[in-house]
Amino acid sequence: MPRYANGQAPLSALVKLGDQHYLPAGTAARWKELQRLAWEKYGVWLVISPGWNAYRPLSIQYEYRAELGVWAAVPGYSSHGLTYGGRDCAAIDVYNWASLGWARFVALCRIVGFTVDFVSPQELWHIGDFDPWNVPAFADITINPETTKLPEPEEAEDMPINFRSTTGGVSYTMVPGICITRHFNEIAAANTNYFNTGKPWPGENASQADREKAGERQLTDAGILMLLKQYGFTWASRDIARLPKDGETLDADHILRARGVDISR
Ligand SMILES: [Zn+2]
Repeated sequence: MPRYANGQAPLSALVKLGDQHYLPAGTAARWKELQRLAWEKYGVWLVISPGWNAYRPLSIQYEYRAELGVWAAVPGYSSHGLTYGGRDCAAIDVYNWASLGWARFVALCRIVGFTVDFVSPQELWHIGDFDPWNVPAFADITINPETTKLPEPEEAEDMPINFRSTTGGVSYTMVPGICITRHFNEIAAANTNYFNTGKPWPGENASQADREKAGERQLTDAGILMLLKQYGFTWASRDIARLPKDGETLDADHILRARGVDISR
């Protein structure tokens, strides 16, 4: 049985890590350890997304559901509410996981006991601790920054890439080796682009040159196919029509294969 009903834990039973960021003691310890490892090994200081994106009380779950729709769980069932599937579970949204890249992020999460990629729709930033009330002993994990290889800047090839088809006039964001999302509209593209690059959007009907300056690559079909091939989307690279449709997401080869999709043709 979970210790508290979903979203009903008193804040006084939790550790406060920051404004609107509360976690059970065990999860707080795992999170601190994850921050330490990411910092010492890769020079990335992980942060929790601003807002109630660690523990989320029930009243806030109602608020988020109204605002975010399908991207927030049905109130009373959120894994941010300290239960999930009838078990204790504490979830955290990690704002800047992409700075590590998916593979490194997953590896460090596993070391400290976080589960990744367990909710639907898929949220790569959302991690869960299914043993939130037990404080782990981490004394045996040490990293010597002197002898640990830090990633070179040019190795950061798993950062999201924003691109636009100059034939179709449609914008996409690719997380190399993971997935490609097609944006519903200009606003979605502009927001994502800004989150990924920090560069302001040049506005609607902007020139290709200005969009390029804002960090969105302007590509012909041939250029897109090359990009797909280079970053783990070989299946899609055989036919431009395999790019995701409106609002859809396309997974990389290894994810499709794991799901039993025949990607040989
Ligand atoms: Zn979440």
